[in-house]
Amino acid sequence: MESYDIIIIGAGPAGLNAAKILGDAGRRVLLLEKNAEIGPKICAGGLTRKSVRYLNLPQEIIDHTYNEIIFNSLHFRSTIKFAENFFYTVDRKKLGQWQLGKINRNFVDVRTETHIIRIEKDFVVTKENEKIKFNYLIGADGSNSIVRRHLKIKTRLAGIAIQYKIPRGNFNDFEIFMRSEFFKAWYAWIFPHKDYVSIGYGYPQKIFSPLKAQQKFEKWAKEKNIDLKNSVREAFLINCDYRGFRFGNIFLSGDATGIADGYTGEGIYQALVSGEDIAKIILDKKHRPRKTYATIREKRVHETMAFLIICTWFFRNIVFDTITLLVRIKLFGRTLLRILS
Ligand SMILES: Cc1cc2nc3c(=O)[nH]c(=O)nc-3n(C[C@H](O)[C@H](O)[C@H](O)COP(=O)(O)OP(=O)(O)OC[C@H]3O[C@@H](n4cnc5c(N)ncnc54)[C@H](O)[C@@H]3O)c2cc1C
Repeated sequence: MESYDIIIIGAGPAGLNAAKILGDAGRRVLLLEKNAEIGPKICAGGLTRKSVRYLNLPQEIIDHTYNEIIFNSLHFRSTIKFAENFFYTVDRKKLGQWQLGKINRNFVDVRTETHIIRIEKDFVVTKENEKIKFNYLIGADGSNSIVRRHLKIKTRLAGIAIQYKIPRGNFNDFEIFMRSEFFKAWYAWIFPHKDYVSIGYGYPQKIFSPLKAQQKFEKWAKEKNIDLKNSVREAFLINCDYRGFRFGNIFLSGDATGIADGYTGEGIYQALVSGEDIAKIILDKKHRPRKTYATIREKRVHETMAFLIICTWFFRNIVFDTITLLVRIKLFGRTLLRILS
């Protein structure tokens, strides 16, 4: 049986970042990806400043850069301006390919079109029934993780995010929309990219059926005169149910570990730092995963905020209107965004 020190399942931001750090340290790694191409993923591709700084992302990877965000509620529309760039959009294919290019291929073997369908104590099994042995296994295989299922870890808190990719048209602003009658306590976004615009929203799996969510979204889009006819509709899970990342010699990273933010839906930064911390723990047992823990603390704060907004029930649009007015006060707006990002 072929054997590797470390096998990583999934070449998203988490798996690619873990592979980079382990490869740079000279460890023998096998990175497995079920898709033919590394990068593409259903995602709005919105990044905050911390992700761009973390990756030191070059300008050519970035679709758009924003120093302001527009908040919309039932009656108001307010802009929060920053002195410097704060939000970015990236295409996930470009981001994945760029991360891939950073990996030390002398130590890291990358195999695409390799779908893992079973995991045993110290080997994984591909769809073609090939068995590959590992000392350590990293499950960086996203919200529908086979590694998480192998570990029998439940997922009770998951969201679904749907996005429509529509032609660029006249959309230029980075916007969010808070409307209780359509999205309950959550929000819709408009994130313009170079060649298209991502318009969508996320909601906890339990509150709407996919059909109802789609109908509500389409009703809102109609009200905003957004034509969804020529759009590509996509939806995927976001696992927010964090229950630990280390299970003996098996680790969970990124969406597989449920580290994505249950309110904002942000998961790329969380995936990157959890991939880093896991790689560092494999390299040094004494490594303290400070970035991962900080991310989990932030996630808890945001999810508590979501809970408080849920509790406002019939008054939710009044709360959203109040927030949208308050963000006009520079200090309030900037502080709120710093807390949320
Ligand atoms: C509609 C939508 C919009 C979003 N918008 C944003 C946003 O604007 N900003 C943000 O920060 N986050 C956003 N997210 C969340 C973000 O996409 C994820 O949190 C992030 O991609 C997690 O990275 P990851 O590396 O953990 O997993 P993924 O990016 O999901 O990567 C997992 C990889 O594992 C592979 N894989 C899975 N199973 C197997 C298997 N059995 N064998 C081999 N390979 C396998 C997959 O093909 C995939 O390439 C959005 C999510 C959705 C659904």
